[in-house]
Amino acid sequence: MAALRVLVGVKRVIDYAVKVRVAAGGGGVQTQGVKHSLNPFCEIALEEAVRLRERGAAAEVIAASVGTRLCQETLRTALAVGADRGVLVEVGEGAALGPREVAAALAGLVGRLQPQLVLLGKQAIDDDCNQTGQLLAAMLDWPQGTFASRVALEAGAALVEREVDGGLERLRLRLPAVLTADLRLNEPRYATLPNIMKAKKKPLEVVAGSEVGVPPGPPRLRVLRVEEPPPRKGGRRLDTVPELLERLRSDGRI
Ligand code: AMP
Repeated sequence: MAALRVLVGVKRVIDYAVKVRVAAGGGGVQTQGVKHSLNPFCEIALEEAVRLRERGAAAEVIAASVGTRLCQETLRTALAVGADRGVLVEVGEGAALGPREVAAALAGLVGRLQPQLVLLGKQAIDDDCNQTGQLLAAMLDWPQGTFASRVALEAGAALVEREVDGGLERLRLRLPAVLTADLRLNEPRYATLPNIMKAKKKPLEVVAGSEVGVPPGPPRLRVLRVEEPPPRKGGRRLDTVPELLERLRSDGRI
């Protein structure tokens, strides 16, 4: 099997352990002074790509991030985990980045870098838009294997297992293809200190969004308002089952 080039989309998001707060004005969430990390599902996609290279099925792993210069830190993390090189598709501070813009940027990179496989996370934990992989596959007219929980490569094809309602689905996709990683695909490794040091020397290219076809102009999708969920009402402890039944009846639940 000829070893192939894999492009992995890595997104910078608010760290999963941070309590997300709505920004003043309600137009979004607070991002200033908040810890950011590599999106957990991108870590899984990256781990899979690195394992494919370690097994000899992939020749090169390229990590790509679309965003501001701050995403370079995310790319350095990806390089420390094992990507061979990184590409930042740079857009200005405050530029609208919806799934359409990101998918267009990744499609532009595919044109330049000619990977045979694109691996993305199944979702980004910040905006949960869950459609970048699907949109990208449609733009490229490539087959897609979304929510992959197992991936294997054979001559010219990817074998993908997906967890669907009531069982497992197995797909055989002719390469080139787009895959998105589910939680159970693998357990990502941590970047070791020596690899963090080595990552500083790996190539990291910056290309302007306009060079790879990020659509100009205002976004088609605008977040109108973000609100905190209503505060939870406190619970009450009941001592007996009849009390519980009485309570459920009086609340109209049974
Ligand atoms: P989403 O569709 O936004 O939920 O994200 C799904 C996946 O698309 C992520 O796990 C990434 O692999 C990829 N992705 C989304 N946004 C970006 C971005 N700005 N840069 C690179 N990859 C991204």
